[in-house]
Amino acid sequence: MERSDERSAPSRTYVLTCPRCRSPVALGFTNQTACQKCHEQVAISASVAERRDNFRKLEAERRHKDPLWALALRARPHFYLNPKLLASLSYFAPFVGIMVGYVFAYRFGNYPLAALLWLWVIGAIHLLSSWLLVQRKPLHVRQLMLAQPTSEPGHPPQCRVCSSPLSIPAHTPEVAASLDCSCDHCGADNIIGDLPLVTPRPDLYSIQSAYQEVFGGLMQQRMDRAYPFILLVGFLLLGGISFFVVQVPQTPLT
Ligand SMILES: [Zn+2]
Ligand SMILES: [Zn+2]
Repeated sequence: MERSDERSAPSRTYVLTCPRCRSPVALGFTNQTACQKCHEQVAISASVAERRDNFRKLEAERRHKDPLWALALRARPHFYLNPKLLASLSYFAPFVGIMVGYVFAYRFGNYPLAALLWLWVIGAIHLLSSWLLVQRKPLHVRQLMLAQPTSEPGHPPQCRVCSSPLSIPAHTPEVAASLDCSCDHCGADNIIGDLPLVTPRPDLYSIQSAYQEVFGGLMQQRMDRAYPFILLVGFLLLGGISFFVVQVPQTPLT
């Protein structure tokens, strides 16, 4: 997916800092907030509160319409995307193929069909595992969008880009697993809900840049989509060829 509407890099100025210790404060949801570093109470003026609420609303609407954001928000580490499972799928493919070939053909003396089944089963399993590998990628995009946890317990997570404290909206159980919010300071989109397992990448400000990082350029994306099928066609052809090659000695010469 090529995008030309990529959002610009953040400015490093904070919307509101603590008057005592100068650290950025969470803008919260009322007309007052507390500094997380020094616990100073900070008043939020009516104009700041209005801008805050407008900004959050517009940003939430923008995210809501973004298919890439939906992709990252939905991504879950399903068991069938487990890397160990995918690696063992490819590893066991030849053995599964041999078993299928044996059960359906070899034990009846049909050697050409056994060879064909062996290769076709390997091809089908490789198609499945390489397709699942592509399905893993949105998980990585999600990881890159995750808010960073704070070292102090009880504190809300920090923005993944500028490390300011985030104001997490109250959430109902339905959305608890896929919660997102904007950073009030730098405007970066953050996903909240699980702990990031990858190194933070504040340089990837927009979801578009994270998507490009994980999925690669257009050419790479096309290759990734085509690869499982190229592999499958290869195995299908190989199966067909070996079917005829194995059959040749059985065919009486005329
Ligand atoms: Zn402070
Ligand atoms: Zn931020």
